[in-house]
Formats: sequence, structure tokens, C-alpha cells
Amino acid sequence: MSFTELGLSPELLRAVADRGYTEPTPVQREAIPHVLAGRDLLAAAQTGTGKTAAFVLPILQRLSVTPSAHESPGIRVLVLTPTRELAVQIEESVKTYGAHLPIRSAIVYGGVPMAPQIAALRRNPEIVVATPGRLLDHTWSGNLDYGAVEVCVLDEADRMLDMGFIDDIRQILSWLPTERQNLLFSATFSDQIRRLSAKLLRNPVSVQATPSNTATELVRQVVYLADRDAKPAALVRLIRSGEVRQALVFVRTKHGADKLASHLTRASIRTAAIHSNKAQLQREVALEDFKAGKVDVLVATEVAARGIDITALPHVVNYDMPSVPADYLHRIGRTGRAGIDGVAINLVSPEEMPQLVDIERLLGAPIPREPLPGGTVAAPRRSGPPADRHNRHSGSRPPGANRRGGGWNGLPGERRAEVSSGGRARSGD
Ligand code: AMP
Repeated sequence: MSFTELGLSPELLRAVADRGYTEPTPVQREAIPHVLAGRDLLAAAQTGTGKTAAFVLPILQRLSVTPSAHESPGIRVLVLTPTRELAVQIEESVKTYGAHLPIRSAIVYGGVPMAPQIAALRRNPEIVVATPGRLLDHTWSGNLDYGAVEVCVLDEADRMLDMGFIDDIRQILSWLPTERQNLLFSATFSDQIRRLSAKLLRNPVSVQATPSNTATELVRQVVYLADRDAKPAALVRLIRSGEVRQALVFVRTKHGADKLASHLTRASIRTAAIHSNKAQLQREVALEDFKAGKVDVLVATEVAARGIDITALPHVVNYDMPSVPADYLHRIGRTGRAGIDGVAINLVSPEEMPQLVDIERLLGAPIPREPLPGGTVAAPRRSGPPADRHNRHSGSRPPGANRRGGGWNGLPGERRAEVSSGGRARSGD
């Protein structure tokens, strides 16, 4: 099937062709006709499936062919998304696909000054892409009027709920006109998501881009068993041997991200780190450097990595295994995107076996264990007391026992540093 058969306007077809897409992805093929027809949509689609264009293209078409029912200009489309990176990526898609249409958009996210966003909101954008918290701030300050909203998109709804945005979302939805089109995208479907969709969506069409547990088909996955303290050296070895080229490396904590980045930098590996304690500009520079190939390794926390759009990312490394199995799917969704095969490498310590078991249960298949190329890496000798952390935690730990954050898996002595620097128990951002 080609894009022409989806009923998109010539301006949008031109933009899609400019982008080099030859045919729609499955979620685009299934969702676009329904969204064009004005239906509510419940889409099971994770990042990497082309879901952004699946809602942005038909929304742009709607805005360009149907005038607003309102006399005065106002926001016609509100897109809520969990992170600033994702917000930036969606707004870039709006601009890319809307390149040949006179449609204005604005973007609203936290961690940066309000003033430029206020100025953008005053220019009467038809589309606003926002993270919930900052959108509330703008609303309380009187910078927004929702009276003309006709389409509401909840993107990565599962992640927004995971991040505790449910009350903000409910509040925002209560301000929108009741007569509107609603689109909900989520990679996973917890009971909470089902309740939200049941409340939000009217007679929705359901589309399923990739059933969550087959999301892995394009990605070769491997487990290397490595003691926790041996992981830094194991990663260095994988990179030096060429086994890992450009890689996005997931770690559990911000402190862990910084420590690992310093370790890799000391090993002369070009590395950058992103997490929520980094200024927005630093995060953008790190991402741009990574995309431009100026750094080989981008170390990231779960949340900071969310929404990163890098086509053809060859490797994802789970340096710390995720505690929530669904996060594994999100992470490996960073590679094997848009038809490109990828590799997901898991460095699993004995303490992390329960997480691995949960992940394999979700996948419905074991992940192959392979010996670390070049043989086992010995953990560095420790100068501390003999009862080491490893022994304390290994063996009979119940599943989930080490899931309450603070479980820094890095170099000796670093856990103490994390505690004394006030590191929070919550993982990621
Ligand atoms: P998304 O799932 O929206 O994050 O998109 C994942 C990646 O797929 C992005 O890099 C898009 O630019 C790319 N993409 C989206 N639609 C297509 C398409 N029809 N053909 C090829 N690549 C696409």
C-alpha cells in the first residue's frame, strides 16, 4: 500500500516523500483512515512503529481542510506527551509533515523559562504539544484557552501514568470541550490505562501496531552474565572489541549515569550522559553529538532516553536491567526501528536474574546467554570489608527484592557516594 491510497492531501504526500518514506508503516496504514474519518482511536503502538506520523498526518489534514468552528483563533489540537524529548520530537514531526501547509504549532515543556513559550502561545498556534505539568502551569497563569480544542492526543499514555501524571491529565481533560476527537497511544495496557481509555474514548477503533511481546522481532537480543562490579570493564571490552559500536546505554540512576560516563571517558571512549539533572541545553547537545557520531556512547536513564528518536541505532545496552519488564520493550524499541535490525545487549548480574526472568516471561521466550567475548571479566579488587555487597545480595533474593531503586550497580564505593549526595530511591528521572 502506498501513502496515496490513504487519502492524504498532495501537500502531505509531498512532505512524506521529502522525508523519503515510500510506504506507510502498519500503524499508519491502520490508523490514518480512521483518524481522517474523525473516529476516536485506541492504538497499541510503541516508539519505533511510526506512530507519530500516524496521528500527525491525519491531524494536519483535518486542520488544513476543515476550518475551525470557532470565530476567534484558538488551539485546535492538544497533544500530551510524557517527556520534553518526546514533545520536541512530535513538534518536529508537525513541522516536517506540515512543511507545505500554513499550520502553526507551539511546544510546552518544563525545565526551561516560561517566557518564550508564552510568546509562542500568543502567536495563536493551532497545535500545542505539551508535557502535562508545564501545561498546567501555563493554564493557571492564563496563557491558554481550550475552548476551540477539537482533537486531543494522549501519546505514550502508559508512560505518562508511570510518571504520575494521571491527576494532571484528568484536570486538563476536564477543561476541554466535550465534543472532540480523542486518540490514545500506549505501548502497554495496564488496568489504569484501560480505565482511562474507557472514560476518554467514544466508540474507539482499536489498532495494534506491534503486539508488545513481538516488538522484539527485529532485535537480536543477548545476555552476557557479568558480576555487578565487573560491568564497567565488561562494557569497555565490548566497545573496544567492536562488538558494540554506537550504543545507547541504560542505567538505573542519574548518579549511575554520571559515574559510568566518567569511567568510559577515562577509558578514552567518546561518551555523553543524559538524565533529568542535566540542563535542557546539555541534553540537546549530548543527543545531537550522539546523532552526529561525535560520541559513541550515550549513557541515559530510562526516562531521559524516552522519546529519543535515532534511526538506525545499532545497539542498546542494558547496563542495569529494568525493574519493570515493559520498560525492557521500550528500551529495545530504541534499536531495530523502521525496518533496521538492531542488537540489544544485556549485562546481567546475579542480583538481576529475577528481573531477567520477569522479562523473559513477558517476551514468552528466553534471551540467549552467551559468554562475554574475550572471556569473563574479573571484578576489581575491593579494599573494603570482606562481606561485600555482591554476596549479601546474591542467591536467594526474591524477585523484586532489589527494585526499590538506589541499587547502584557500579564501581566499589559509589553506593555510599550516591547516598551522601542525597540520591533519591526512585529510579531514572
Ligand atoms: P515513531 O514511532 O513515530 O517514533 O517513528 C519511528 C521512526 O520511524 C522515526 O524515525 C520516523 O521518522 C520513522 N518513520 C515513520 N514513518 C515511516 C515510514 N512510513 N517509513 C519509514 N520510516 C518511517
